[in-house]
Amino acid sequence: MTDTEDAHEFTTTVYYDEDADRSYIEDKTVAVLGYGSQGHAHAGNLADSGINAVVGLTEGSSSWEAAQAEGLEVATTAEAAAQGDIVSVLVPDTVQPAVYENDIEPNLEPGDTLQFAHGFNIHYNQIQPPEDVDVTMVAPKSPGHLVRRNYENGEGTPGLLAVYQDATGEAVDEVLAYASAIGCTRAGVVETTFKEETETDLFGEQAVLCGGITSLVKTGFETLVEAGYSPEMAYFECLNEMKLIVDLMYEGGLAEMWNSVSDTAEYGGLSRGDRIVGDNVREEMDVVLEEVQNGSFAREWINENQAGRPQYTQLRQADKAHEIEAVGDELRGLFAWGDDAGNESNETAE
Ligand code: NAD
Ligand code: MG
Ligand code: MG
Ligand code: MG
Ligand code: MG
Repeated sequence: MTDTEDAHEFTTTVYYDEDADRSYIEDKTVAVLGYGSQGHAHAGNLADSGINAVVGLTEGSSSWEAAQAEGLEVATTAEAAAQGDIVSVLVPDTVQPAVYENDIEPNLEPGDTLQFAHGFNIHYNQIQPPEDVDVTMVAPKSPGHLVRRNYENGEGTPGLLAVYQDATGEAVDEVLAYASAIGCTRAGVVETTFKEETETDLFGEQAVLCGGITSLVKTGFETLVEAGYSPEMAYFECLNEMKLIVDLMYEGGLAEMWNSVSDTAEYGGLSRGDRIVGDNVREEMDVVLEEVQNGSFAREWINENQAGRPQYTQLRQADKAHEIEAVGDELRGLFAWGDDAGNESNETAE
């Protein structure tokens, strides 16, 4: 045990297989709406766990045959919602309010459960369920293909679990049974709330994971290229090596990464990193978090979708047009990177 582990006291509840009782969903039908990343994984895992599952899709959807080919029962979204005692809402977050209004709400019965994998629409009141249904969440902390693959390999996928509304008094037992049936309690499920899951998810993807990291990469690339270095070198240094560094942090925290790079890289990074991500970045992170907490980001994104996504389209095009993308396309074509090639090498950040 390290000093940091000694210093940290866990305050969260983590559930495992032994905490779940499958009998809470064994006599029920789960309607899995959507057959995308999460939908195909939840439906497949539920069915393999012996739970009665029906996939709900729009008529003519290209996923219809794919789901049937997996031996799953498929119905229209409204029919599935009507059959389901548990309605697992796994269509994209931006279309959930319309699907709820048209296909789910008219088919909800008292005692049914609305089950989500992300809290956005409940937390920001885009879906307002009646008081006589349970509202729960199991959010696997992983893309759907891993939720499915891990399950098939006898392994689990960590996840988050929350209960927003417990109308029946059995919402916790039922959501634990659901988490168990999709394999999440094999790995461990952390208890949270819809508010906490939604706000931390949005902040994380905006400030660090998706937004922060891409801007850091692009700015580093631009700095080198504008100083006269070759775009190819700048690409390797600022984008390609990112994976190797992140893999080390994932395996063993910051310490394993620092131990694996040279002393020069460690001293340079320790002495310069906080100058790059300094007070101004910290202040802006507070503003971004505030926009998540006060709902102004959610309002902006909802309006953006209602307007046909003009700003989103423009931002996407600008990002695609960045020089680093053209350089990367070319370099990735020239070199043989196996899927795991990056994992072999700790030779990085000299
Ligand atoms: P997805 O985009 O991969 O799949 C969505 C599915 O819904 C597809 O089958 C699509 O055909 C169907 N669909 C699209 N529009 C529809 C409509 N109008 N009516 C009916 N069906 C429609 O979505 P996803 O990434 O699996 O996300 C589903 C939920 O899971 C979201 O709440 C998301 O936040 C959450 N989640 C996703 C991940 C992830 O890694 N992808 C991780 C955790 C949670
Ligand atoms: Mg029903
Ligand atoms: Mg996330
Ligand atoms: Mg997210
Ligand atoms: Mg280097």
